[in-house]
Amino acid sequence: MTQIQYLKGIGPAKAKLFDRLEINTVEDLLHYYPRTYQDRRLGVPPNLYNADDRVVFKGRVLRTQTIPARSVLIFKAFLQSEKGEEMECTWFKKRMYRGFRFDPFGTLKKDFTLNSEVWVIGKREHKNNFFDNKITVEEHYVANDALTQLHAGRLTPIYALTEGLTNKQFRQFVYEALQTSSLANEPEILPPSLLKKRGLLSAPQALRAVHFPGSLSELETARARLAYEEFLLLATAWGIKRTQTKVLSKDYSYEIKKNLLTPFRQQLGFEFTNSQKKVINEIFNDLTSPRPMNRLLQGDVGSGKTVVALCAMLLAVENDYQAALMAPTEILAEQHFLTFKKMLRGLPVKVAVLTSSTKAAAKKKILKELAEGTLQILIGTHAVIQDTVQFHNLRLAVIDEQHRFGVKQRSKLKEKTSKLDLLTMTATPIPRTLALAFYGDLDVSTLSELPPGRQPIQTETATSRLAYDRVRMEVEKGRQAYIVFPLIEESEKISAKAVTEEFEKLKKIFPQFKLAVLHGQMTPTEKESVMNDFAAHKTDILVATPVIEVGIDVKNATVMVIENAERFGLASLHQLRGRIGRGEHESYCILVPQHATSVAKERVDIICATRDGFKIGERDMQLRGPGEILGTRQSGEFEFKAGDIFQDRDILYRAIEDRDELLTQDPTLQKPEHFLFRQKLQELYQKNWHLIDLS
Ligand code: ADP
Ligand code: MG
Repeated sequence: MTQIQYLKGIGPAKAKLFDRLEINTVEDLLHYYPRTYQDRRLGVPPNLYNADDRVVFKGRVLRTQTIPARSVLIFKAFLQSEKGEEMECTWFKKRMYRGFRFDPFGTLKKDFTLNSEVWVIGKREHKNNFFDNKITVEEHYVANDALTQLHAGRLTPIYALTEGLTNKQFRQFVYEALQTSSLANEPEILPPSLLKKRGLLSAPQALRAVHFPGSLSELETARARLAYEEFLLLATAWGIKRTQTKVLSKDYSYEIKKNLLTPFRQQLGFEFTNSQKKVINEIFNDLTSPRPMNRLLQGDVGSGKTVVALCAMLLAVENDYQAALMAPTEILAEQHFLTFKKMLRGLPVKVAVLTSSTKAAAKKKILKELAEGTLQILIGTHAVIQDTVQFHNLRLAVIDEQHRFGVKQRSKLKEKTSKLDLLTMTATPIPRTLALAFYGDLDVSTLSELPPGRQPIQTETATSRLAYDRVRMEVEKGRQAYIVFPLIEESEKISAKAVTEEFEKLKKIFPQFKLAVLHGQMTPTEKESVMNDFAAHKTDILVATPVIEVGIDVKNATVMVIENAERFGLASLHQLRGRIGRGEHESYCILVPQHATSVAKERVDIICATRDGFKIGERDMQLRGPGEILGTRQSGEFEFKAGDIFQDRDILYRAIEDRDELLTQDPTLQKPEHFLFRQKLQELYQKNWHLIDLS
């Protein structure tokens, strides 16, 4: 591998700029794909890449002109194309006093000598009403220069760059790298059989074409090959991981005794939905099987994941094992604790909650009972995975809203739980095939129905005033309401202050009702008492930051007002709305947007149009990218460079199909024709995919 600084024209100083783009070697440079392209061919019909008002023109110089003005200097060149069309090209330069010998247009004058042939690329001037053939030039290239063919008269690559690097330079470096690197003989990592089966371009062909495509169709074929490669690598890594976990076996076993499960079910007060029954079955099968469970339970907001988890935990307790439940926020952990206590009333099961703000004395007691084994179920935030927490015999770990945990926390948990049964739960469901691609080492269960008796939720946008009218109407009928304000600048403190101010204003707007405020800066005891008061209907309106987003469950609440709705992500909006419509009364979710950008407006529109969590999850991923959703963006785990899991869904499916075939023939990739592919996997694994153990 050649270090980037040895490429012609780069050197140590420029290499630092490349380092910022994580380009260290010539190979990295070649795999730094264009962000987009500009169609700079002459006279092609509009397409994806020349839809803006950019103009590409090639012509001979008829004359040039310099116009001094007060604060700017203007240079003009008049060009004529082969067909006789004329173009007036303009450059502006700020007037700067750098000595009278300095001519800011020196280079331009050299390039635009009379009769020379030049390409110009720029923006069409809008304000002009009589002569449309006028542009403000962004780039120009002298036609008889050999390198010009990289920049003009073609589909031109545009890279995402850092300050100090221009696209023009960058294209020339890429070109240089394509000429000089051993790329032409770069070995093909894809198994030849697959290359043939899918009719893919070879790696060197694809690299050349993705940087300097000869046509739109060539670009598509190149991108397809590179996307396929990325997908196949990821899918295979997960596939291998999956077989590895399948052969692990646990040194403990479960027996379904029902001495807790049966009374639990009897006092629950509702029947499980068919979907819940099916999922509980799947989980019990996992638990009683000899290999550790690694299952993702996905189910829309309100689909009843908590009781399913509790059933699994009770099975563990029936077998004298301990179980733990981890939630992303303290409020949710507290809420789960209350729910568990209520549902387990009268049963011989001891439950406790541990968060970072549990008092020292209480914590000491919990730790002691955990170590002794007298405490059977522990609920908590990530405090649960701290090293000081030692269990007597923890066998089952449940993670609620797993996508909200950071990558570090998740890998730490993975370490701690490698010999455990693991159930992860999420309300951001993703389509099944994508789930397989992303969570390839997991089994997936889906709660596909909501418990019966759920009321429809009317979702609409309105002004604050109309929203408050609805709040008033409902509260007068004896219902309760949430009014939610966004987090400001990601800072809990500022948000707390802002929401407290709003709370004071709202008290004046609703003098006849009881209001309470809830935000992340309050102590757990304060939060708990506010939540308890609201649940017991001692307060009517809860004014809150999005701390209430997950898990809160108050059936009498029928109105959700979301202020500054444009600031919320799709998943948050959906989760917030999931707080209402839980009882027998019709519910209202009212979004109050302020200044919405088009994306924000789209989010609000989607939320108003559908309640289907799957659809919302999918759109969310499209709008934000999968890495953002899965919390893996920083680690680069799921950032594809060429592929787009939505646009290239068909390619993804093909890759998964081929992965299955590949691993059936050669489960650990030992065959010589798979050697390079395996090597590439290992290399990637070292860089990014730290969760995949290929050793
Ligand atoms: P989520 O899947 O969003 O975590 P929860 O587990 O919080 O949903 O369940 C939402 C509400 O539905 C809770 O009040 C729970 O007690 C109730 N619930 C769960 N299953 C059923 C059921 N089968 N019938 C009626 N209510 C149920
Ligand atoms: Mg939940």
